[in-house]
Amino acid sequence: MRNIIATSALPYANGDIHLGHLVEYLQTDFWTRFQKMRGNKCLYICADDTHGTPIMIRARQEGITPEELIAASHNRHSKDFEDFQVVFDNYSSTNSEHNKEICLGIFDALEKGGHVHSADIDQYYCESCEMFLPDRFIKGTCPKCNSPEQYGDSCDECGTTYSPTDVKDAHCTICQSAPVLKKSSHVFVKLADFQDFLEEWIPAHTPAGEAKKLLDWFKEGLRDWDISRDEPYFGFEIPGYPGKYFYVWVDAPIGYIGSTKEWCERNGKEIRSFWNDETTEIYHNIGKDIFRFHALFWPTMLKAAGYKTPNEIFVHGFLTVNGEKMSKSKGTFIKARTYLDHLDPAYLRFYYACKLDPSTDDIDLNLEDFAQRVNSDLVGKITNLASRGAQMLHKKIDGQLGELDDDGKALLAMTQDKGELIAEYFEKRYLSKALTEIRGIADEANRYFDSKEPWKTIKTDPESTRQVLTSVLNVFRVLAIYLKPILPEYTAAVEELFNESPYSWDSSKDVLTNRPINAYKYLAQRIDQKDIEKMVKDTKADLKAEKELVAVKKNEYLPEINIDDFSKVDLRAAIILEAEDVKGASKLLRIKVDMGNNETRQIFAGIKAAYKPEDLVGKMVVVVANLKPRKMKFGISEGMIIAAGPGEKDIFVLSPDAGTKPGMEIH
Ligand SMILES: [Zn+2]
Ligand SMILES: [Zn+2]
Repeated sequence: MRNIIATSALPYANGDIHLGHLVEYLQTDFWTRFQKMRGNKCLYICADDTHGTPIMIRARQEGITPEELIAASHNRHSKDFEDFQVVFDNYSSTNSEHNKEICLGIFDALEKGGHVHSADIDQYYCESCEMFLPDRFIKGTCPKCNSPEQYGDSCDECGTTYSPTDVKDAHCTICQSAPVLKKSSHVFVKLADFQDFLEEWIPAHTPAGEAKKLLDWFKEGLRDWDISRDEPYFGFEIPGYPGKYFYVWVDAPIGYIGSTKEWCERNGKEIRSFWNDETTEIYHNIGKDIFRFHALFWPTMLKAAGYKTPNEIFVHGFLTVNGEKMSKSKGTFIKARTYLDHLDPAYLRFYYACKLDPSTDDIDLNLEDFAQRVNSDLVGKITNLASRGAQMLHKKIDGQLGELDDDGKALLAMTQDKGELIAEYFEKRYLSKALTEIRGIADEANRYFDSKEPWKTIKTDPESTRQVLTSVLNVFRVLAIYLKPILPEYTAAVEELFNESPYSWDSSKDVLTNRPINAYKYLAQRIDQKDIEKMVKDTKADLKAEKELVAVKKNEYLPEINIDDFSKVDLRAAIILEAEDVKGASKLLRIKVDMGNNETRQIFAGIKAAYKPEDLVGKMVVVVANLKPRKMKFGISEGMIIAAGPGEKDIFVLSPDAGTKPGMEIH
């Protein structure tokens, strides 16, 4: 029996779980459930990643404490995982006393080993927010391609990475003001002290392609790792460095140990001896985007503090939907909860399993293929064996299994013989290959069933028909056992059908004969394409609601101006004399206003969706009188009418109170 600790990367408490995250949680859940079925001791450990500037800022914007924010996230994440049938042996938070203790212990070891030093660095500081700005809180124009509004560390348009000081017209994303460079003392870990160890460790414990890319870096020599952030920061303060906090990527992976410690306390074990036990195997499942943190910094911390380093780091690719990056506007940035509102989690578990292997290639959720594969394979091929077999046995005979006929025996023996091969695929994370075997067996079982034509023989020879149904149901039962790590609730229903206790992997070696089975209950039904459409529609609606929420909450203002700037704008009261549609312009109205002193002007206003022309005539409005006239396709627009609202139907023209005369200045 093996002792295994398996982890998934900790989801950040700043957002909801989506289908991209679920690739990893489901992959790890399949693997850990498989290990448990094989009789191994296996813990699936995870936690919420709760620290850092984004959490602090978000809490501030919502008017709550960071602790309240992360507690709410913890509840939402836990519920999403539970409903997706992901079972953790411990699910904790990085903001726990357990984690803090381990974190301080590791830092202490780094310091005592002489691997820590501090140095001054120049960093952008926002004077109005009174804080140092992380790269993601700086935006500006890309120094390479000049795209505006790019993050401080990289450009989404051209893919260049750079330092925030290279960004043109850099500004704080919270308050829009320009940051200043300010000196601050930071704490560093001397990675170079671990270079020899890492050069040996990385290729032996991580995927070859990723390892090579990382080791290419080593040629220039390893730079020190900055592990501190200045206050205000939500995290753990560094002992001996007042006002300095551990960077979130220090205490996030330590959360693996912190969470395991919680489990140890519940189970009468001591964390260090449990983690370091020579029989303990440790595996981390991560996405390729966070490889560097797990293959470089994490083993360094573990090594320095005398903790066992992981046996292996399993790395997977990203999820694409319909062949593209998940997109909010296309409705493919689907949250776990939105999926659950419309579809059975078993479908996604099955589909991901069909696609997963140990490679770091991206996996694609093609929504059409998803429905098709679930309907044809899970429902049409596999479940069909049970529904046809069990229903006939119950309705046409007496619900009793008999013996197997010779063909049935051969079919079942073949199915059972595949058990070790399928187990090997699970072990090595070739889920797609395991599923191919399972589908192949289901195909053969369906062929066997059809060739025996039990729907005909049931009238003439019920006893030989009983043998056919007994054979088919035994094969189905073994398939359900192989599928149990992927479809735990489905298989639980199969256990009930056959009146058996929970299956282990070895239950597949049994043959059920001469005993009653329970009446067949629904196991899986076909996906209705309409449910997928509803899920995509809800995802789009979700995005819209989110945008509105942000717009209301953030109250982001334009950069400050002084009174002289304001007085440059000449606002005047004016009365609308005429308003009419403009041919060929779907959004515009042509408006004639009286500006007072016998002056009239023509203004084109984009308010057609909100106002009927006849309702505007006679209305007193506010006009920007000194706006440079604009030549349009339909004529010249000589000013602008002031209105509130985001656009389309939500436009509200401002109107001065009664008594105002055309031409009056507005101050
Ligand atoms: Zn660029
Ligand atoms: Zn600011």
